[in-house]
Amino acid sequence: MVVIEKIPGAELIRKVPGGGFFLTTSESFLKWGKASSLWPMTFGLACCAIEMIATGAPRFDIDRFGAGVFRASPRQCDVMVVAGTICVKMNDCIRRLYAQMPEPKYVIALGNCAISGGIFYYDTYSVTKGTESLGIKVDVFIPGCPPRPENLLFGLMKLQEKIRREKDAAR
Ligand code: SF4
Repeated sequence: MVVIEKIPGAELIRKVPGGGFFLTTSESFLKWGKASSLWPMTFGLACCAIEMIATGAPRFDIDRFGAGVFRASPRQCDVMVVAGTICVKMNDCIRRLYAQMPEPKYVIALGNCAISGGIFYYDTYSVTKGTESLGIKVDVFIPGCPPRPENLLFGLMKLQEKIRREKDAAR
């Protein structure tokens, strides 16, 4: 057990009745820290990337969720938001960026194109049919064409829930 003072938020932390401190397990505490400091990659593919950029701007303020530190290098990221149409020419680039991210790493498919090819699903020779067709496991799917910034924030919260629930060495 770890005794921690003045930890805001985290539902996994139980307040001791009558006490001015919190108790939690070190495992829950580390997961809370991991979920609350996700660093996304600075990386966009098409129109949905504009929504991702808007999510980082002051009106929506993704920093409230600890996920506003967009990094320029995949080696410093733990979240890849696949935002936009995946053209076939980008397949190898996306695979390489994902491979360069350290574990543990997570993927959000933002928008119909990143999920399945979207409006380009039929009769298009140049578009890949979604992120998972590249062999990259997606943790959260956010549908829409395009999804709004609120959708991305909701998807981010779902990813945080998933991280708090995951078992050790499960990935
Ligand atoms: S889902 Fe719609 S808005 Fe997003 S990249 Fe595809 S066409 Fe553009």
